[in-house]
Amino acid sequence: MSKANQLKVYNTLTRQKEVFEPLSPPHVGMYVCGPTVYGDPHLGHARSAIVFDIVFRYLKHHGYKVRYVRNITDVGHLENDGDMGEDKIAKKARLEQLEPMEIVQIYTDQYHKNMAQLNLLNPSIEPRASGHIIEQIEMIQKLLKKDLAYEVKGSIYFNVVAYDASNNYGKLSGRKIEELMKNTRKLEGQEDKKNPFDFALWKKAQPEHIMKWPSPWSLGFPGWHLECSVMGAKYLGTPFDIHGGGLDLLFPHHECEIAQSQAANDTDPVKYWLHNNMITINSQKMSKSLGNFITLDELFTGSHNALEQAYSPMTVRFFILQAHYRGTLDFSNKALQAAEKGLNKLLNGISTLKKLKSSNSSSSNINKLKESCETAMKDDFNTSILISCLFEGVRIINSVNLGEEKISSEDLDLLKSIFEDYAIKILGFTEKTSSNDNSLVDPLMDLILDIRQEARSKQDYEISDKIREALTKMKIVTKDEQDGTSWNYEE
Ligand code: ZN
Repeated sequence: MSKANQLKVYNTLTRQKEVFEPLSPPHVGMYVCGPTVYGDPHLGHARSAIVFDIVFRYLKHHGYKVRYVRNITDVGHLENDGDMGEDKIAKKARLEQLEPMEIVQIYTDQYHKNMAQLNLLNPSIEPRASGHIIEQIEMIQKLLKKDLAYEVKGSIYFNVVAYDASNNYGKLSGRKIEELMKNTRKLEGQEDKKNPFDFALWKKAQPEHIMKWPSPWSLGFPGWHLECSVMGAKYLGTPFDIHGGGLDLLFPHHECEIAQSQAANDTDPVKYWLHNNMITINSQKMSKSLGNFITLDELFTGSHNALEQAYSPMTVRFFILQAHYRGTLDFSNKALQAAEKGLNKLLNGISTLKKLKSSNSSSSNINKLKESCETAMKDDFNTSILISCLFEGVRIINSVNLGEEKISSEDLDLLKSIFEDYAIKILGFTEKTSSNDNSLVDPLMDLILDIRQEARSKQDYEISDKIREALTKMKIVTKDEQDGTSWNYEE
């Protein structure tokens, strides 16, 4: 990326937009907190994964060599995100009478399936917490040696007060330790801690606990925050460039990650902290108790009471990218239906673009359009503005197609490259299909339209009408033209 065209990212740590300067270009290290695999992926998972897929794609587009690490949490994430209660995966295993690692496998597979449907690029490394127990024990030993952690009855806690004496605990979330002292209640079962906001690095397992490993202190399991510190440092070094995740992870998860990493390695672990905002459902927080907890499978098949229809993965992708990642996003049937229309308009534009004919000159400034696309993305990945720029491109495409505007062959090539780069490569929309099986749709549609044409020429209207009606049901519109029949998604 040239100096004149610098990317600016909003860094949660400094609370401002900063020019993106990687620690050792062209390499970029990016760590994103992945799922705790104990249930079906939902819209919240989709938003975080898609947002950082865009960051990954955009940096790669500009020639950076990105190592993208997204972890799988398979142990240590307790109920209520705290240090008490049951392990989320162990609880699900108990309820379903399965091995915890069967639960991990089922929901990891489900996550991978849904993320592929949403056309996400795979991360470079996808490490699991349970595969890094030795490294986690080593980090705890470092912290004990520095007197920043203490042992009580086989469990190890991070000493937040001792750390704060020479560091700034709370710098990511803006919380002050004095306020935390005042506001944190002593919870039952937490008496072992010196302070209620000290957090567990290692927990001694109760006899009934299934997932446990030997350590110098007890048969137990690591605290939730530790895995990300350890795996980030192991695969990306200390410090590394970008750490991402949902805003709900900012405190305590990321705050604790900073504290323990800084304490163990004597350096700030991450240069840029990026957080995506949450999704609400009809203005309410998504939760199982409100009955508005919609999984991605339910969304893609329409099998939830709150849904008026099924929404394709690409529609969901479009819906998420229509908003800037730091803004809130509200799900409703109306919003998804608008996204479906918008996506179809964009994809129809792309297919019309392929058959446009050029003239001697252009009536629109295509260079300027390209510039505005790039300006949107370099301003903290503003996909919302980028999509509106692409709609301006669609407007030009449709005008040229109708003969109301013209375009030179040089500009036509440029316009094609804009859609190829920004709509397909960076925003990751797949063409003219709601599934990822892109390669099949075009030849199958050609075949169907050929059969219909043949039926019509034999005056077999029963068959040709049947095909047309079936296509209409699938929201596919056919148009008979001089050189054959073309098709589009209904807008
Ligand atoms: Zn994490």
